[in-house]
Amino acid sequence: MATGISLEQAARDGDADSQFQLGVQYLYGTDVPKDPSKAAEWFRLAADQGYVPAIRELGILIASGEGVDPDPEEGARLIGRAADELDPSAMYHLGLMFENGIGLPVDRQKAVRLLAYAAMMGFPGAEVDAQRLDDILTEERNRKLKSRPVIKLMLSDVDVEAACCGPMLEDLLAQRTVFTESESGPALLGEDKFGMDTVFQECPYCGARIQIVPRDKEYFG
Ligand SMILES: [Zn+2]
Repeated sequence: MATGISLEQAARDGDADSQFQLGVQYLYGTDVPKDPSKAAEWFRLAADQGYVPAIRELGILIASGEGVDPDPEEGARLIGRAADELDPSAMYHLGLMFENGIGLPVDRQKAVRLLAYAAMMGFPGAEVDAQRLDDILTEERNRKLKSRPVIKLMLSDVDVEAACCGPMLEDLLAQRTVFTESESGPALLGEDKFGMDTVFQECPYCGARIQIVPRDKEYFG
């Protein structure tokens, strides 16, 4: 990287990457006095040019109110823009915001998908958080499945809501059969009798058809 002075010159000349790098220096106090509000100013200049990492970092500062007035909704919007560009760090941060309802309504299913995606792209720490949240959701899902009558095979847009018969319930609890998205919508993924991965639209044991229902509602008495 260039020295502090020429980096600042390039940033002043409007180079988005230099503006971003200078923002990072002010954020962490590298070669310059730590100054989050100056960091936010440089990030904003780069973000205005559509520079994705700067959009993300500006969003993080605005969401937390570091160096700027806090505005979690605006922060989430900016981080979401960077996540739409498949920025792994933005996906990670947006995942945690969805999990904790910061600037967004809580949506732990969206959260776990974003964290898993960030982990897949190698973002440090994402795998641990993805696994942690997946464990929580799996435990809750299993508790829900066990508490509901085993009558109908019900799926929401993101998970299994109820099982149709004992063998299916066992497969779901053991995660031998899992929720998936198919061309025709929510479906189940499991092994057929030959051990091949197969997408099921109906229960291979009792023949019950999948019913699509809203998530996390109480369906029975
Ligand atoms: Zn069944």
